[in-house]
Amino acid sequence: MGIITKDLLINFLFILLPLFLLQMIYLLKIVYRIDKLKDILVTILSVVSIILCMLFPFSVGDGLFWDLRRIPFIIGILYGRKNTAFILLLSMLLIRYLLWGANTGFYISIITYTLLAIIVNYVSRYYLKMALVKKVWMSVLLVILSTQVTYFTTFLLFNINLSANMWVQYFVITIVGTLLATLLIEVIRMNSDMLEKLIKAEKLEVVSHLAASISHEVRNPLTTCKGFLQLSYEQEKSPEVKQYLGTAIQELDRASDIINDYLTFAKPAPEKVEKVSVFQEVHNVVNVLTPLANMQDVQIFTNLDESNQNYISGDRKKLEQSLINIVKNGIESMPKGGKLIINSVVDYPVVRIKIRDEGKGMTQQQINRLGEPYFTMKNNGTGLGMMVSFSLIKGMDGHISVDSEVGKWTSFTIEFPMAY
Ligand code: ADP
Ligand code: MG
Repeated sequence: MGIITKDLLINFLFILLPLFLLQMIYLLKIVYRIDKLKDILVTILSVVSIILCMLFPFSVGDGLFWDLRRIPFIIGILYGRKNTAFILLLSMLLIRYLLWGANTGFYISIITYTLLAIIVNYVSRYYLKMALVKKVWMSVLLVILSTQVTYFTTFLLFNINLSANMWVQYFVITIVGTLLATLLIEVIRMNSDMLEKLIKAEKLEVVSHLAASISHEVRNPLTTCKGFLQLSYEQEKSPEVKQYLGTAIQELDRASDIINDYLTFAKPAPEKVEKVSVFQEVHNVVNVLTPLANMQDVQIFTNLDESNQNYISGDRKKLEQSLINIVKNGIESMPKGGKLIINSVVDYPVVRIKIRDEGKGMTQQQINRLGEPYFTMKNNGTGLGMMVSFSLIKGMDGHISVDSEVGKWTSFTIEFPMAY
């Protein structure tokens, strides 16, 4: 093993160490529910890793120093926040300059890494949505590309000849290092996602058990109260007292509605399965919510498929309830008014409903937590609406997905199998 390999292996340690730190902090983050941390952390740890790599380089003569900093550089941009490329490039060049001054290697760095930052930054827009195998290929491809750029700038622009043996060792270690680092960071992310899902599932189960038992216990006394109140209401002469009793009955009705919501959640299978027209139900939902929308200067636009295939099988009331919860959130996300667009299309073999608002939007973390009981960002929110919607839609064999951009828009897409 050449001395260069030994040096580069020390570098490799500096890439692994921050990754282990990342794993630890993710765990703490989940336990203590710190939301924003995730992406910033990747940027910070990449900078640390790059600095460490640069502090222990290997000199190959002619003022050239080699290290593995391109690995945290690429991975940091791929997994970090939007402007990570810029931060990493600047801090790397600055430290490179402070450490070794403006020699040949510095110019090679400027050319290689500026080019690399632009390319990787472009790829990073699509990267996180790729499948695992594609991600691994992509990061390896990028690192190969970057070593080639270094090779050519060193060789052609600056006319420096290094032994082939050195290049080969450098290529191999860089590629293997990138492969391992990508896999490791993927495993870490998978672990933390899984843990988050587990916590969510656990909470859901507790709520559904509580819902079923408590609702039953509370429903009976409520019915008795309502019965006696109604009796008094009918026999009461004084209009003032009559009004009080009326309000009391109304509030009891509200309470039993809330309990029914809980019960529908505890028992998500549709009770009355029939052929339901999506067109008709969306129409109803819009009618019900238009007054609320008007109050907040929100305009609802619809574009609904009326063809005779727009039928799904399920429970009419539950479909309405699940849509109402989602549309209501959309309206509430635009306190200063705006547009809410509801589309429905028949796209064999599914009927697809799209609900899009121009509201606050959500971060990826918030989207992940949607449907979790008691998750709310509102002062007087219950955090139950989305939970109920999700479980109702699931109970009708539907599928829901959410896409959003913070400060701009949110879009819910719901698909149900067509009824025949
Ligand atoms: P609640 O409305 O009582 O807060 P929900 O379960 O209906 O409870 O919603 C949970 C949270 O999801 C909301 O507090 C809000 O932060 C977020 N949310 C849901 N829909 C949207 C939306 N269309 N735009 C922005 N945020 C939303
Ligand atoms: Mg809500």
